[in-house]
Amino acid sequence: MRKIGVLALQGDFREHIFMLRQSGAEALPIRWPEQLQGLDGLIIPGGESTTISKLMTEYKFGEEIQKLAAEGLPLFGTCAGMILLAKRVIGLDTQFLAVMDIEVRRNAFGRQVDSFETELLIPVLGQNPFPAVFIRAPWIERAGDGVQSIAQLQDGTAVAARGENILVSAFHPELTEDTRLHEYFLNIVEARCKSKEG
Ligand code: GLN
Repeated sequence: MRKIGVLALQGDFREHIFMLRQSGAEALPIRWPEQLQGLDGLIIPGGESTTISKLMTEYKFGEEIQKLAAEGLPLFGTCAGMILLAKRVIGLDTQFLAVMDIEVRRNAFGRQVDSFETELLIPVLGQNPFPAVFIRAPWIERAGDGVQSIAQLQDGTAVAARGENILVSAFHPELTEDTRLHEYFLNIVEARCKSKEG
């Protein structure tokens, strides 16, 4: 079984742990940087990006996660997690982990459609639409070379993307019963483990 950590400082890490276990992985909450060692993948959950970021600084997670990302550890960020992984957050001077070449807009949907659910077509997951839950969500304004948008809203707005070993979604797959995006992440993890094992 592959071992996936879920950053458990704030936000909906319990739901991710549940989804990972449903998908056949070992999942554990990560509360200290030392626990990052020996993981096959790491999820950064939704929540409040500024709060998670403050706690990450306080507990000294930043450099360690950046180092692991540079080594190719598969990462999956949802909503606030996507904001924390992005190289640039529009409207904020702060950069957080800055390990994925995307530019995101925080709270992009504005007040009226603050939160909504929509059936989203994600071709890499097959033909059945995915129940995508957006809660004060960001969107992706620009994706760099090597990053591919894997889901767009009807108006073309990119809301999920992947780089080689990194996956992000503006919505919350962990708040649904659909495990396909978690399974997709586990495939990235599996491929990376296999290539490491030679
Ligand atoms: N709006 C939140 C932020 O900026 C993200 C919301 C979420 O993760 N549901 O961090």
